[in-house]
Amino acid sequence: MGMRFEIVTIFPGFFTSIFENGIVRRALAEGLVEVGIHDLRAFTHDRHRTVDDRPFGGGEGMVLKAQPIAEALESLGIGSKNQGSGIRDQGSVVGGRGAGVEVRRPCVILLSAQGRPLTQGLARELAQAERVVLVCGRYEGVDERINELYCDMELSIGDYVLSGGELAAAVVIDATMRLIPGVLGNEASGEFESFGAADAEIETDVEGVPRSQHGAGGLLDYPHYTRPAEFCGLKVPEVLLNGDHLQIRRWRREQQLKKTLKNRPDLLEKAALSREDEKLLEAIRQQL
Ligand code: SAM
Repeated sequence: MGMRFEIVTIFPGFFTSIFENGIVRRALAEGLVEVGIHDLRAFTHDRHRTVDDRPFGGGEGMVLKAQPIAEALESLGIGSKNQGSGIRDQGSVVGGRGAGVEVRRPCVILLSAQGRPLTQGLARELAQAERVVLVCGRYEGVDERINELYCDMELSIGDYVLSGGELAAAVVIDATMRLIPGVLGNEASGEFESFGAADAEIETDVEGVPRSQHGAGGLLDYPHYTRPAEFCGLKVPEVLLNGDHLQIRRWRREQQLKKTLKNRPDLLEKAALSREDEKLLEAIRQQL
């Protein structure tokens, strides 16, 4: 059985086309990943299927009520942390992980602009869970008691405010499921992209050039080119056409360092850098 995501949302139709394309579609078809979409309105009990109400204390907008979300989660076998009921407290729990993601227990996530940021490292941890439950907020957000009672973490996909948690849930699923073994054609590709394991031991060849060609070691990926060799007067860098693999590797590493220094200098602080990298970086800095 594949890893299972459960989404609790007031807009179940939102996800129809999102999972019908590319790698996600293939992963679903091959049973490597399963997604359950749960309509929050199915857990209401009034004629109008009300999911929201006015905020206590006044203020703008509406708030998603606790009761339908609690019932939706209980229907998935997830008991509140307080009650000690439901799936959460059954069976053994496999090892605590940095982010609070545990393999056998469902990880319940509240999508929120106030959450901890989603990173590649966290996606890697989530990819080890058997079941991840994503609660999508709307309006001004979700009654805080849902967070307190059921959620293992609040998760943000970036420092901006979306209208709802659905897009964020889709981002979490996409980033996570491509790290599940078997989902990407080439097992290594997830490791060697931008943000590839920052704590990776860096292996260099005799000349001190890292063996990996891609973004391992916590750097951003290098630029990619395909045919034609010239486009709108811009030529593909000569080094990529000459077939000298050492030169290509060296050039790509330099580009990774350049791009990371330009766009995300913060990543360099934690990146695994070889002595050769340090020298290249110094040379790049001097060119600026
Ligand atoms: N009042 C909230 C605030 O200022 O943080 C914003 C609520 S937002 C309009 C509605 C819902 O969108 C949130 O409950 C959350 O589920 C989702 N959302 C908004 N921004 C998000 C982000 N950056 N990451 C994850 N979810 C987000």
